[in-house]
Amino acid sequence: MPLLSDSVTRRGFLATAAGAALVSQLPLRLAGAEGSSLSNRAEPFAPLPVPGWVRRVTSMAFGSLADVAEMADAGVQVLHTNLVWPYDPLRRDGGGLSADDAARLKELVAACHQREVKLSLGLPPFPSVSLVEKHPDWRVFHDAEGSILKTPPVEDNLGTRIGCNLGPWGDYLIEVCAELVEDYNVDGFSFDGNYHPAICYCPACQAAYQADAHKPLPAKVDLNDVEYRRYLVWRGERLEDHYRRMQVRIKQANPDAAIMTWTVNAGRYGHLLHSPRAMPTRLNLLFDLPMQEWWLDETNFGASIAPTFGAAYLHAVTGGRPCASEPYLMSRGNPYGTHSFPKHERLARTLLALTHGNVSAQSFGWPGHRDSAAQACREGNRRAPWITNAQPLRWGAMLVSEQTRQFYAYRNIPELFLPHVFGAFRAAIEEHLPLRLVNDWDITPEELRKYQVLLLPNAAALSDSQVSAIREYVRNGGGLAATGESSLCDEIGQPRGDFALADLFGVSFRGRPQTTSSPAPLDENFARHLDERYWQERVGVATLSWGEHPLLDDERLRELVPTRNVLFRGPQVLTTEPQEPTEVVCRLQPEGGSAASPALIARSFGRGKVIYLAAALDAALWSYSFPYQRRMLARAVEWAATAPPDIRVIAPMCVQATFFEQSHEGRPRLVVHLFNNVNTAAHHGLPAAEAPLREETIPIAGIRVEFHNHSLQRCRVEPEGIEVPLRSDAARPGVLIADVPALARHSLVVAE
Ligand SMILES: [Zn+2]
Repeated sequence: MPLLSDSVTRRGFLATAAGAALVSQLPLRLAGAEGSSLSNRAEPFAPLPVPGWVRRVTSMAFGSLADVAEMADAGVQVLHTNLVWPYDPLRRDGGGLSADDAARLKELVAACHQREVKLSLGLPPFPSVSLVEKHPDWRVFHDAEGSILKTPPVEDNLGTRIGCNLGPWGDYLIEVCAELVEDYNVDGFSFDGNYHPAICYCPACQAAYQADAHKPLPAKVDLNDVEYRRYLVWRGERLEDHYRRMQVRIKQANPDAAIMTWTVNAGRYGHLLHSPRAMPTRLNLLFDLPMQEWWLDETNFGASIAPTFGAAYLHAVTGGRPCASEPYLMSRGNPYGTHSFPKHERLARTLLALTHGNVSAQSFGWPGHRDSAAQACREGNRRAPWITNAQPLRWGAMLVSEQTRQFYAYRNIPELFLPHVFGAFRAAIEEHLPLRLVNDWDITPEELRKYQVLLLPNAAALSDSQVSAIREYVRNGGGLAATGESSLCDEIGQPRGDFALADLFGVSFRGRPQTTSSPAPLDENFARHLDERYWQERVGVATLSWGEHPLLDDERLRELVPTRNVLFRGPQVLTTEPQEPTEVVCRLQPEGGSAASPALIARSFGRGKVIYLAAALDAALWSYSFPYQRRMLARAVEWAATAPPDIRVIAPMCVQATFFEQSHEGRPRLVVHLFNNVNTAAHHGLPAAEAPLREETIPIAGIRVEFHNHSLQRCRVEPEGIEVPLRSDAARPGVLIADVPALARHSLVVAE
């Protein structure tokens, strides 16, 4: 078998794998429905604790034995590398690594540990030829006939030896990992692959599905079929079980052993497009440290808010646990390459990921970029005191609903799902609102009560229990801002016929504006399916108009739309009129003849406040934006919130601010990241092909951070170590203001 060369980059490995025609099976897919379990799970899902040393990691690197000394000098704490393949037979059965492989692995572990670098071994998750020859039915069966059995395993064709990790191969792989920990003191693992296929008919899968679901496997991969959707949820839970058992087994061998592996669900733009997913989003909670290959090329909309969202989303799916975005040094995606990649851009990408809670992960393998790799690691480590064990401040929560992405929006994820979450996220970033991304499983009474406001950006697929958690949250004083078709379907994407949150919105769903002049009654078949015409009519042009209302009493909004009458292009839904007419703050008049309908409804529910946006300002702000949309969306979220944020950043929109809390020597500490995302090339290129390739930056002066009702003694800007006096404002008691020195690229405002 041709072992991966020591200097192979991860991309090199993927190219090897792709040559084996298994691109469709390998990473690159995504996950989620949190409500509908089929797998007879006895206890509720719970994450596993992360070893303490993993929580302290601030920089990791990809390279080889030859790089260990240089990496250690740069402060790298974890080396990721490929070296050996799963062997056959197991050591416990008289097998193990070949003498040659054993010697090389021992040498690598010794070199790492001598420099206090942990070794995370990249293990290609493929059974050997001899193992497949013994057990041809341990492989993934792509069809019910088992035609893979007619294909003999071939050394250099990985497509002939894809094991099914639900069956005996999964247990075998777990045992290989445990033996590598026991015998060689390997510190952790990553896998290029080891997710789940879109479907598998191997004997183990057939038996397990029959036992759990009491029916045969679905006949084909078809997300239009609710039975297939349920299967996908089940298969995801089985994958979670596989990783949970792997974690238990390797931690038996060494409690500090870790899984620090690639996520393919929750991250860069391309990940979000993959459907059916290859792993549930929740699986990220069973990794000690999920990593993503973070691409900012034009195919991943590198010059937009999309990469930032990817880093923030990865941090969100881990629930604030460790995670890493490895900035790929791709100048371009099509064709793919690192040509002319500026060193400054590498640092900018690294610090952008760090701003959103990701640790630095650098490949030393990019030609001509060893010094920039070391620099990026050093800059990560320099910030260690303020990023280690920091938790995001909770004010606003924005649901990124994976079950909505997978079971409602699968027909066209770039149109039906991403514009809403990207647009809402963009508004929060540009307005510097402390908005935390949350997941389907976070929509519980216990979790929601930590927030002042919940934002549902077209979160269409919600379970009954999520709906009741949201209802109770608002009844008890929480704020809610929802857009579009939020709560219109159940957690598996089946239409409910009306919003499950209609009582909170104050209106019912009537359908979508039609482009013809006829009215748009709710299709009588709606409750059964959503036909093609339904999706086509989703986006249109309308006029929004509004009168006097405290919510829109805003200087900037008046300046942007002095006439209170403005064009809107984006997803719209028609609703009934609320019982109380004054709850309609803004109306939409669709182009093409449909009657005017409420666009923005603001009302009370119980002790809380609710905003419902039938004109999806969030999606419009990504797809066809006007500045008023950002401001109106921010005002809506602020209006609904129980209380305003107690930290405010006053800075230009290109400055990203994130907000964390830390405990330092037993005292609370506030940490505000400020990232200067300016691009001095000023959009001179063709917009559709733009990628950030920055060679320089411009320091930004005049940034202020305001702390409201915090008792603070001291404020510094780190890592520069500059003391910043806190001044008070006579007109606003309880407010302390820090005037931040000019922001070069990334600094932390640390207040104690
Ligand atoms: Zn299988």
